[in-house]
Amino acid sequence: MTERIVQTIRTVPLIRDEIAARRAAGATVGFVPTMGALHAGHTALVERAAREHDVVVVSIFVNPAQFNRAEDLEQYPRDEAADVKAAGAAGATICFTPSVTEIYPADFASSVQVRGPLTETLEGQDRGVGHFDGMATVVTILLNIVGADVAYFGAKDAQQALVVQRFVRDLRIPTEIVTSATVRDQDGLALSSRNARLTADGREQALAISAALQAAANAISNGSADSPEAASAAGIDRLRVAGITADYFMIADPLTLEPASQLSGTLLIACAATVDGVRLIDNLTVSANREAATANC
Ligand code: AMP
Repeated sequence: MTERIVQTIRTVPLIRDEIAARRAAGATVGFVPTMGALHAGHTALVERAAREHDVVVVSIFVNPAQFNRAEDLEQYPRDEAADVKAAGAAGATICFTPSVTEIYPADFASSVQVRGPLTETLEGQDRGVGHFDGMATVVTILLNIVGADVAYFGAKDAQQALVVQRFVRDLRIPTEIVTSATVRDQDGLALSSRNARLTADGREQALAISAALQAAANAISNGSADSPEAASAAGIDRLRVAGITADYFMIADPLTLEPASQLSGTLLIACAATVDGVRLIDNLTVSANREAATANC
């Protein structure tokens, strides 16, 4: 990947002018919204955007509105200089690093809310639907500021990507939303900015999360589980062995996020658990159609 010269822009008028100038010269625009503390999961999104677009905007903004615990917001890792360097190395052309007041002026009074099962289950049930209101509001603002052709989101936050797709469709925001695969460490741990807060022991324990998702997926694909409950039990058991109680462990429809009533079609297995005082989430999709999968081989 050729390293491009990265421009850091902090205000809305400046980024709008810059993007308008690039567009006038015929450029297409890809956009990767992030909260910083960039790792290989983020840079994979930036690299993909750089393969597909002339201009790649990476926003770095820790959004206070989507944290339900003040200490989680305070402890969120921040290192702008390192993030700008990592974004540039991955092919970003512009880093948008607004202040909190640039995004939320003192008289800010609006909110984007997606209602229904998509936001009421999993993270919405566990962290409260306000988490998604905060995320949907800031992503709407950022999409409106950047006006990208395509915005890239990670499958690691599968529910977030579905919520974004829903409000972008409902509100007719003219940006295509693309979801890219979860990037993991070699031992299976899904990369997350929060992993930096794990102790060595905590990291070891956290490996049980991806292992539990895999155990449930195996139980589905090898037929040893005959119901979503049995498949969940296989995962929860794997977590219990590691001394972890999940905030949730659920087998769901990958599009509606409603709990699966039977093992058929493509299923999403999603888990959240607090390890070492750090709340982690992860998910896998699995095909439950063993006959179809065999027939397709
Ligand atoms: P965040 O900075 O955590 O808000 O994440 C910014 C974007 O990066 C979101 O679309 C995330 O889903 C995505 N992302 C975070 N971790 C990963 C990962 N391990 N693999 C792929 N995408 C990720």
